[in-house]
Formats: sequence, C-alpha cells, structure tokens
Amino acid sequence: MTGRVFDIKRYSIHDGPGIRTTVFLKGCALRCLWCHNPESVEAGPELMHWPARCSRCYACIKACPKAAISKDAAGAVVIDRRTCDLCGECAEACLYDAMQMVGRDMSVEDVLSEVEKDRVFYEQSGGGITLSGGDPFVQAAFAEALLDGCRERGMRTAVDTAGLSQNGVLDRLAAKADLILYDLKCMDDTRHREFTGVSNAPILDNLRRLAAGRTEIWARIPLVLGVNDDDDNIRRTIAFLSSLKTIRRVGILPYHSGGLEKARRIGRESHFRKFETPSEGRIAAVEAAFREAGFEVRRGG
Ligand code: SF4
Ligand code: SF4
Repeated sequence: MTGRVFDIKRYSIHDGPGIRTTVFLKGCALRCLWCHNPESVEAGPELMHWPARCSRCYACIKACPKAAISKDAAGAVVIDRRTCDLCGECAEACLYDAMQMVGRDMSVEDVLSEVEKDRVFYEQSGGGITLSGGDPFVQAAFAEALLDGCRERGMRTAVDTAGLSQNGVLDRLAAKADLILYDLKCMDDTRHREFTGVSNAPILDNLRRLAAGRTEIWARIPLVLGVNDDDDNIRRTIAFLSSLKTIRRVGILPYHSGGLEKARRIGRESHFRKFETPSEGRIAAVEAAFREAGFEVRRGG
C-alpha cells in the first residue's frame, strides 16, 4: 500500500510528548483560510517554486515538455499552472532546489523504515510518531496501516486531526493511536463555515464521542485574530472542553503568515487570506483563561 506524503520532519517537539517524527500526509477536508500548511490541503501532488533560491539558469524552461514555464520581463520564472500537468521534469532539472514537487507516494514500509531511524530518541524521551497533514484521516487506509506498523514495532503514535471524518473512520483509527491531537477552530457555526468551508457540528459531535472513549486527547487551537480570539469564543471553547471532562490539555497555536508564503510558492495564494499576528499580550491572556479553567496549556502544540 502507498500513500501520499509531503514531508517527514524529525526531532519535532510540538506534535505530542517527547521527541517525535511527524509524518505529514496530503489532503484535508477543511479549507481554513489561515492554513499554516497550504501545500497539505489538496490530495494530489503540487509544484512549488522558490524564487529566493532560483539562480535563473532556466534549465526548467528547457526541461518542460508542456512549455508551461517562461520568464517575465524582469527575468523571473513564471509557471502557467493551467498548462502544467505536474510531470515533475522541471524539478528534476533544477539543480538549486528552487523547483520542487510536493507530495510523493511512499509505501508503508518506506515510511516505517524512515521513522524507525530515531527509535532511540523516542524511547529516551517518551516520544514517538505523529501523523499530521492535512488530515491523516483523508488517507484513512494508509494512516491505519502506519498506526498498525508503528504498534507492531513498539513505537507510540499520535494523530493530529481536524475531526471531520465519517463512517466510523475516526473512531477506528483513534482506537489505534496512543494520542489524538484534536483541532478546534471556533464555536460559532456561521463563522466556522465562513473561515473553514465546513460546519463545526460534526467536528464537535466527533470530539464529544471520542472524549467518552479511552484514547488520550489534547485539544489544539489555532489562534487567529478576528476568527476565534474574541472573549466570547474563548469562553465557549473553555465551556465545551470542560464539559467533556477527559480533555485536560490544550495547545495554543498562534497564527503566523508563513503559510501565505508557502501558498504563493504553489500558486494558490488566492485561496488563503492574510490575518494579523496575535500580540504576545493577547496570546498570554488566552492561555491564562484556559489555565484558570484548569487546563494544562502549551504554546505551539
Ligand atoms: S531550473 Fe531552478 S534555478 Fe534554474 S531557473 Fe528554473 S527554478 Fe530557477
Ligand atoms: S511539472 Fe512538468 S509540465 Fe509542470 S512546469 Fe514542470 S515540467 Fe512543466
């Protein structure tokens, strides 16, 4: 079995306890306008161009069988993404890593051999493997095979999810993970639809059901000004999480504009929006509100 992976990040300390390797799978059911990993959203491969790395050697222009790459009046590389069929020839030709394909098909065994390299760090730190994305549940069979493989090899696992999956997939996979990192965006459904493209009702229902089970869950809240940082939303989020009883830990992930730069590199900036970065004072106030409600709070995950 193969799945589409867009990154494997070693020595991660923000995606669960201890030292971890995070495997990022492509594909997400939500369309959050602030997404920090815009290259994860679409399930298919994408072509990323890094202007800052580009030497303007134009090897990519010669390599492209579709004539989809040209240079503008200033000599900058321009990709006609309607003509490009994502063959990857330009990335092969580029010696400067300025043109890259995002998303490669890997077998379960390939991923397991890669993550197993740091087993000693997981054992010493209480860490393990985190499946992230995107949302790993979009590639449910692949994610399940990875969780099974990690368990067989004695490596602990976490899954970072946006919580929008149906037909029992979430429950089945959650039962195989040691920890679920569950993203909560905002409590108002109209606003949730406006900023993520979907209703929050199934996401909240799924969390209620999961929290009644035995899997350990940490909530994660991307803090985005004008979306979910207001006092009313923070109060409602605290009330909701408090009602679940079994969730005692919250990660606050302040918005940063790095995602927008990545969106530009894959030619999808029009699908995302720039937000203000929350001030240190606002982040601290939100963290304090969760602490006062009895939650253990960690910034960044
Ligand atoms: S091959 Fe790479 S370095 Fe050369 S022009 Fe194309 S993107 Fe830039
Ligand atoms: S991926 Fe293929 S078609 Fe697209 S720009 Fe590169 S070489 Fe051309």
